[in-house]
Amino acid sequence: MEHKEYKVILPPEEIPKEWYNILPDLPEPLPPPINGSTGEPINPAALERIFAKECIRQEVSSDRYIKIPEEVIRAYLMLGRPTPLHRARRFEEYLKTPAEIYFKREDVSPVGSHKPNTAIAQAYYLSKEGIRKVTTETGAGQWGSALCLAGALFSLEIIVFMTRSSYIQKPYRKTLMELFGGKVYPSPSEVTKAGKSFLANDPQHPGSLGIAISEALEVALGSENAKYSLGSVLNHVLLHQSIVGLEAKKQMEILGKKPDVVIGCIGGGSNFSGLAYPLIYEEKIRKYGMRFVAVEPKAVPSTTRGEYAYDYGDSSGMTPMLKMYTVGNKFQIPPIHAAGLRYHGKAPSLSLLIKNGVVNSKAYHQVECLNAGKLFAMCEGIVPAPETAHAIKAVVDEALEAKRQGSKKVILFNLSGHGLLDLKAYEDLFNNSLTNYEPSEEVIARSLSSIRMV
Ligand SMILES: *Cc1c(COP(=O)(O)O)cnc(C)c1O
Repeated sequence: MEHKEYKVILPPEEIPKEWYNILPDLPEPLPPPINGSTGEPINPAALERIFAKECIRQEVSSDRYIKIPEEVIRAYLMLGRPTPLHRARRFEEYLKTPAEIYFKREDVSPVGSHKPNTAIAQAYYLSKEGIRKVTTETGAGQWGSALCLAGALFSLEIIVFMTRSSYIQKPYRKTLMELFGGKVYPSPSEVTKAGKSFLANDPQHPGSLGIAISEALEVALGSENAKYSLGSVLNHVLLHQSIVGLEAKKQMEILGKKPDVVIGCIGGGSNFSGLAYPLIYEEKIRKYGMRFVAVEPKAVPSTTRGEYAYDYGDSSGMTPMLKMYTVGNKFQIPPIHAAGLRYHGKAPSLSLLIKNGVVNSKAYHQVECLNAGKLFAMCEGIVPAPETAHAIKAVVDEALEAKRQGSKKVILFNLSGHGLLDLKAYEDLFNNSLTNYEPSEEVIARSLSSIRMV
């Protein structure tokens, strides 16, 4: 057996020089963001007060490939790109499956996830524009630490609103953000009007990404020379993440393999899309019969029980409305450990692909996911993030299905991050103190009815 059947690395000169943009290749035009009070499409220029100008240009670009700036490529190389592609041989053997399981190692970045792929690009464009201060939200702290790292590299002051449940459960991610020079507030916080209003209703509010976004926007809009940065959902973020799939495509080609099924977990949708979109394009042209599976938590069932509708990106209605799968922006999201999956909506482009049946989605409970994560750690030595454990649970189901069918299918998944700063999740698993949250029909219906009124 050849060694490359365990691991494929790309040399630095093979790093992709362009990102892939799926917008020109979607099955139908993407509905534009609209203004919530007028219902009119937003003029993209209006978003330049909030986001880097270049990111807004990318947000609406119809170019299939967009050049990666040389400074961004250098930072990618410095932070461990191209990342390896591994085969999970011991995991396959444990599952006694004829399937081959490959995974893209986005856990090897210095902060332990795929998030620097866009943090670096956004920080670069913001600093080139003369911006000094950048605000953002974070759940598990993965995005916050990626942006603080990028801020340290491109001399930006970073202010992070971290969902309170994570601020309490994951204190080391806060330390990591501070280590890179960032300032971190628990959200809802006392420093914004939005935060105070949520605390007034519930002083112990666990927070959500939607609330933290409202707070970060409020601070960015109220400060000089400041802008905001989003770690998922928007087209330009998914564009930057395409580096993952472009590398993986080259690596699978080196192996002479084509994936039959591509799997990733979805919070806002960026790591899944980063891996899958370049392969969805391949599938569109060549029609291999590849399948694409996006995995969400049952606690936040946006694509499996939500609605494809216009909704706000945040919890207070400060953002434009996006056409996406959502459980409603006021949905109170249970404090599951996969904090990066605690978001009410999903990326508009991914939502469109799910609606059109190009991507299938499924949902799992956190206990079954963390058990799959433990199994993966025991077989492969890598502790997956609780978010990633959702993808792994779907991989297990695909591999067992392949066993039943005697099929040698090739599974590729995104190992979006490691869980070494999320050990509390596994500790709670061992103590049997985890809840399998699943909102009732009534809770979801109530939450969705509030978005139908706008
Ligand atoms: C943030 C995060 C996610 C979820 O966000 P996406 O934008 O859907 O990728 C998944 N896994 C890890 C490790 C994360 O940090």
